Amino acid sequence: MPSAPPQPVQLACPSCGTRFRSLVYTLVDGGEQPELKAALLTGQLNVAVCPACGMASMLSAPLIYHDAGKQLFLVYVPQELNSQPQEIDRFIGDASAFLLRSVPNEAPRGYLLAPRRFLTLQSLIEAIYEADGVSAEDLRRQNRYVEILTDLVNVVDDDQRFTEKAQSYTKELTPEFFATLDAFINATNKAQAQMRSLLIRVREKLQAYTARAAALAAAQELNAAIERLRTVSDDELPAAVKELRPLIDYGFFELWTEQIEAAEAAGDTVTAQMLTARRSRILELVEAIDREAQELFERGSALIDAVLSTSDPVAALRERAAEVDEGLLTVISASIAAARHAGSPELVDQLEQLAATAQEIIESRLSPEDRFINELLAQETTLDATRLLRKNMTKITPELARRLNERAAEEEKRADQAAAERLRQLAREASALLF
Ligand SMILES: [Zn+2]
Repeated sequence: MPSAPPQPVQLACPSCGTRFRSLVYTLVDGGEQPELKAALLTGQLNVAVCPACGMASMLSAPLIYHDAGKQLFLVYVPQELNSQPQEIDRFIGDASAFLLRSVPNEAPRGYLLAPRRFLTLQSLIEAIYEADGVSAEDLRRQNRYVEILTDLVNVVDDDQRFTEKAQSYTKELTPEFFATLDAFINATNKAQAQMRSLLIRVREKLQAYTARAAALAAAQELNAAIERLRTVSDDELPAAVKELRPLIDYGFFELWTEQIEAAEAAGDTVTAQMLTARRSRILELVEAIDREAQELFERGSALIDAVLSTSDPVAALRERAAEVDEGLLTVISASIAAARHAGSPELVDQLEQLAATAQEIIESRLSPEDRFINELLAQETTLDATRLLRKNMTKITPELARRLNERAAEEEKRADQAAAERLRQLAREASALLF
């Protein structure tokens, strides 16, 4: 089939304002143009990259996808183009006329009279994957795992390079990754004995690596905590202790005491005294934090008991909305676990309703942007989040993008790299859709 050429368009970079030209494809033939299909499936089609600042933006353009072999005739018209229905009909009509002319006479062509319309580009992409017999998410993950394994197999005889590589993939070495590796190993046949033994060695070395890395990370975390609590100012100490409370346990104080002993042995009495004084202060702070947590728990339990004793607990909780906070949510989820353990399904049910109500009350105090961001973060997969984002074009504002970046920075401060990365990714997607 003769393919339709891309159209040149003139753009202004949303980030730096540079004007430049880019090409936009409005018709992709998956059977004839595998490279364009691949670009579309991986989100690279109709992405313009600013030559000055490198900012990538998604061009908003209608798209027809055709595949004669699979009898696919898919149409996507971005809502943000605000096209008139007759314009869309003409666009589709022109495309089907063009395709009808180009498909051989003997080939089935009935599907060309009934295009499938999609409201989001993502759902169109998923329909293409589905016709290929794979869910989009599965495919992306599988490809990535193969890439990682290929890389590791190549350096399996070189301990140092293997460790370096494993280190660079640490975040991706999930239980799912290991399950896939097991499946690959089991799928090898006799003729692939060599590949099989290589994969088994990769698995052994990776398991040893992850065990070492976890132990090392825990030790480093503890040492970093000690170092920080040693060096922060007296004013900053309470906040730091509060943040690091989960790490402050018996092992922590043991290491701290070793440092005092080391200072004494070196004759450094000033340091030894400073460390001893600080140890007492940390102990006091920890006790205060635990006491406060206990009080919070008691207050929360009292509130829950009070509302549960009324005929309509949800209404009763709403009446006392002012007392609802994040702490209460923690208390409710602990109570749910206890009720479940005690085998009281009715109580579990009531508590779950209270949790939902409390969550609602807390959410209602948030800005619309934060509410939407929480909704995005609550999605099970990143794909679901992307889908939700694209479904809510009116909520995608510069304010949303700014707030996403702001919250990513907050998570970075809290050293929650995964959450930060997720927020940054959403910020990038939202910015691309803003254009
Ligand atoms: Zn630019």
